[in-house]
Amino acid sequence: MKWDYIICHYAEIGLKGKNRKFFEEKLVENIKKSLPGNSYKKVKRISGRILIELKEQVKENLIKKSLKNVFGLAFFAFGKSCPQKIEAIKKKAVEILKDKKFKSFRIETRRSKKDFPLTSQQINEKVGEYVLRKLAPHQTKGSGVRVDLKNPDITCFIEIVEKYAFLYLEKIKGPGGLPVGVSGKAISLLSGGIDSPVASFYGQKRGIKIIFLHFTSYPFTKQSSVEKAKKIVKILNKFQFQSKLYSVPFTEIQKEILLKTKAKLRVVLYRRFMFRIAEVLAKKEKAKALITGESVGQVASQTLENIGVIETAVDLPVLRPLIGMDKEDIIKKAKEIGTFDTSILPAEDCCQRFLPKHPETKAGLREVKKEEEKLEVDNLIKEAIKKAKVVKVINSKS
Ligand code: ATP
Ligand code: MG
Repeated sequence: MKWDYIICHYAEIGLKGKNRKFFEEKLVENIKKSLPGNSYKKVKRISGRILIELKEQVKENLIKKSLKNVFGLAFFAFGKSCPQKIEAIKKKAVEILKDKKFKSFRIETRRSKKDFPLTSQQINEKVGEYVLRKLAPHQTKGSGVRVDLKNPDITCFIEIVEKYAFLYLEKIKGPGGLPVGVSGKAISLLSGGIDSPVASFYGQKRGIKIIFLHFTSYPFTKQSSVEKAKKIVKILNKFQFQSKLYSVPFTEIQKEILLKTKAKLRVVLYRRFMFRIAEVLAKKEKAKALITGESVGQVASQTLENIGVIETAVDLPVLRPLIGMDKEDIIKKAKEIGTFDTSILPAEDCCQRFLPKHPETKAGLREVKKEEEKLEVDNLIKEAIKKAKVVKVINSKS
């Protein structure tokens, strides 16, 4: 079947009042970025929907795959259009149904243009009758094609909207969420482990454009941790189409902490430095929050006490999208979005070395601050920021 259009429906963004236009425009922009360049003529907003006008030859599967990564889409459908007249609609319904195999069908009309002379129900009936007449001429005693409103083999959807009449057979589920970018930017601390990529994904899903930040401890650890982070960013880039990854050397800071402070507080101190550096970069990038892959109780540093002490190092809100998830759920999600296989590649994380035997699980802020007095905090941060490197990832379209 050669389809003319893709009709895209969004869920929540319809509810956002005055922001609606902004949301829709972002969604259009993201759809354009996601689609193979040679597949569409136009992408535009029409009442309550986004319409993709397709070129002659399109690879349906490729487009499907692309749109499944565009947050904000509730569902989309490859459709045909026809003049907004009941006779034309009837014929078009037969045209798209005639090669399909089914015993029962239903017509389901949505009419956004209320001055169309027929109600949705009337359209259903008229088109249904016509399809029956054309496709089931020999219907006898319960055999052959019939209408089934409850559990049909196939549904022909009709949408009457603005100047268009669209017909389609399959609603393809989108990923939901909000278009990336509508919620602003956040800095995501990306370790290369399993959790932080999933946390970044959930940020993206709620419309946050992610700027990635990875800390390296070369030569304590191999240089490959950056390569791994890059690979993960490339995977997550499919949800935001253009990404920036900062890699920041953490070695000097780590050395200082190792040499000068109490062993049991190391991890808490590392994290406080990471957060501070992230905050400096957030200001530069006009990002409004930090994101981490922390989840309560997973490791010693992630007790409520330690989380609390770590986050007083910064003013920005720290989002932890995995807070309610079990490790098993996180792994499942990581596999689904495609980051898992890369996350489990061997590469040492900067903080795994020199871990104390008995890390503090209930750090007190006073004690932590006292330890920090032994360090030149501002200077260490300034130096680390100076050495920050940026890697850009842009969509490579087919
Ligand atoms: P992950 O699976 O994301 O590595 P984790 O369960 O191993 O998380 P921790 O090692 O305690 O947890 O790290 C907590 C969070 O701190 C990470 O989810 C990540 O957001 C951040 N983080 C840890 N190491 C780094 C790093 N090298 N670079 C950037 N962020 C990091
Ligand atoms: Mg980790």
